[in-house]
Amino acid sequence: MDWDAQVVTVSGPHVPATEGSADSPQVVVQQFQQFVRTFQDARHDFIYRDQLTQHAALKNYSLTVDLTDLRRYGSGELAERLETNPEKYLPLFESGVASAVLLPAPDQPSRYQVILKDDKQSRPVRTLGSADVGKLVLVRGIVLSTSDVKAKATTLTIACRNCMNTKVIPVHWGLGGARFPRQCDGSAQQPGRPGQQKCPLEPFVVLPDRSEYADSQLLKLQELPEEVPTGEMPRHLRCAVERESEAITLQ
Ligand SMILES: [Zn+2]
Repeated sequence: MDWDAQVVTVSGPHVPATEGSADSPQVVVQQFQQFVRTFQDARHDFIYRDQLTQHAALKNYSLTVDLTDLRRYGSGELAERLETNPEKYLPLFESGVASAVLLPAPDQPSRYQVILKDDKQSRPVRTLGSADVGKLVLVRGIVLSTSDVKAKATTLTIACRNCMNTKVIPVHWGLGGARFPRQCDGSAQQPGRPGQQKCPLEPFVVLPDRSEYADSQLLKLQELPEEVPTGEMPRHLRCAVERESEAITLQ
């Protein structure tokens, strides 16, 4: 089995012919998968699929990607999407990386962590404004303090306390939380079930044993001294780092 054999298929997302819209999640996941498998650097090395093979052998489920490479790939559309809406496209990139592995281990997670690096000029912290909310930005600063490393849920399994209907809900990354549905749509709500009580409003409770967690840490980042105008106080950002990035900051 090799990377170039077109006949090899993996358990990646299947794209039905009728659902081929250019930015459906399945199509985007496949585009990211193709980037990982086919990108060649200036020396014609397949740097990402080689990195993936090395990491998979070590059970390291992360991939470090240079954004400059992604900008050069194809029409640069994938990089543009990632930079303008990382909350939507980074998880798709991470699914694409996982699906690019040819022989996935049975315990491989459904998403690899993608660690992005970039050599473009960083932005001074104080130039960040409302137009940057939700976008990918590059800033430099000094880490003033760090919180303890905590386990943060990445997905929660919740159950209705009346009918035990369970759901898996995603948790927003960074400082975000999760939103529980207010109403249960379990079987007790269906007609023709006279013996069962109707579920009350907000019936869901978390099942901690069936939820997934990742390491998470908060940092206080101060802008660089040379970016502070004379006579002004330095500004701070609160940053959340997760999964493998947390290990990097501790070094
Ligand atoms: Zn219920």
